Amino acid sequence: MPNSVNKSRIFLSPPHMSGNEKKYIKEAFDTNWIAPLGPNVDAFEKEIAHYAGVNEAVAVSSGTAAIHLALSLLGVKKGDKVFCSSLTFIASANPIIYQGAEPVFIDSEPETWNMSPEALERAFQDAVFEGTLPKAVIVVNLYGQSAKMDEIAGICDQYQVPIIEDAAESLGSTYKGKASGTFGKFGIYSFNGNKIITTSSGGMLVSNDTEALRKARFLATQARDPAPHYQHSQIGFNYRLSNILAGVGRAQLEVLDQRIAARRTIFKRYFDTLGHLHGFTFMPELVGTYSNRWLSTLTINEKAAGVSVKELLHVLSEENIEARPVWKPLHLQPVFQGIKYYPHNNSVSEQLFKNGICLPSGSNMTEEDQFRVINCIKDTVMHKKSNQKVV
Ligand SMILES: *Cc1c(COP(=O)(O)O)cnc(C)c1O
Repeated sequence: MPNSVNKSRIFLSPPHMSGNEKKYIKEAFDTNWIAPLGPNVDAFEKEIAHYAGVNEAVAVSSGTAAIHLALSLLGVKKGDKVFCSSLTFIASANPIIYQGAEPVFIDSEPETWNMSPEALERAFQDAVFEGTLPKAVIVVNLYGQSAKMDEIAGICDQYQVPIIEDAAESLGSTYKGKASGTFGKFGIYSFNGNKIITTSSGGMLVSNDTEALRKARFLATQARDPAPHYQHSQIGFNYRLSNILAGVGRAQLEVLDQRIAARRTIFKRYFDTLGHLHGFTFMPELVGTYSNRWLSTLTINEKAAGVSVKELLHVLSEENIEARPVWKPLHLQPVFQGIKYYPHNNSVSEQLFKNGICLPSGSNMTEEDQFRVINCIKDTVMHKKSNQKVV
């Protein structure tokens, strides 16, 4: 019987304020910096750049806006091709369409669930054969796990095509000791409400190319020429971040490392309590990488486990627990029907979508609440097992 009415909701990844946010918001109000620029914006940009170890960062209104600016800076236009991970949130690819360009989707490989270097190489070989290289490659670091950046960067370097690293989900993660988001020509972070730290809505574009980021600021501020009479020689965007929201971001960044530690503890608890169940395989952490474990995710082999992802999602939902399937690959999205796709060998992203589940992972989830999730899953699996014996 569903008794969810009595049980408080456990969310997948809710915001987790530190308490210090109000101090920065108050400062913005006290000094009347209620604008898409100001001291919090400047400081937040410097603090993110310092944290990630890059020359510069530009605060923007969303991660999507940051990707759009990066494509725009790389001159992506109508008729161009852009390679993009298939297993991701649609925001990774939407800006390709905004620019009138054409995405080509690249499958995942099983060790990181991220872009397959083999599939990428095949896509490049075809592009060479067709005589048109892509203008950019958008590489996503899913759920906090870095893609195989050495291999991917090696291939992109060989063809001299720039990388945009979509690190929306992987702020604070590292690959061989280097910050996620700093491997491409551009990197982007998101501070949407569900991300590891949030400004309610916001994003950041990072790069070592300070000249390009100067242009990004210009484009993000309606491409206004330096004249007092509002002169414009090209089309820009209104993409800057509010000084109030940047204040929230500053306080959140102060606790980012604590948030990562909490999410990793949550992952470990799931792993220790559920990892031994037949057919349960948690998302790997590639050797040499450190994942922020934004979401704890795993695949369930229905035959071995005796329970499907669909059934588990249903039972968890009855218990007022929010869990989700893994992202639906973009090449399977109705809106991207007919778009070219390069599978790894068998289509890894399709398998991950079919068998993958994301469990509640909020850094503010109590141990007690996590055990509600764990016990619900365990009970369902046991119940299924005993049913099978009876039959
Ligand atoms: C959240 C997310 C984005 C978009 O960020 P917004 O700030 O919501 O625009 C892009 N890519 C991935 C992989 C994301 O998870």
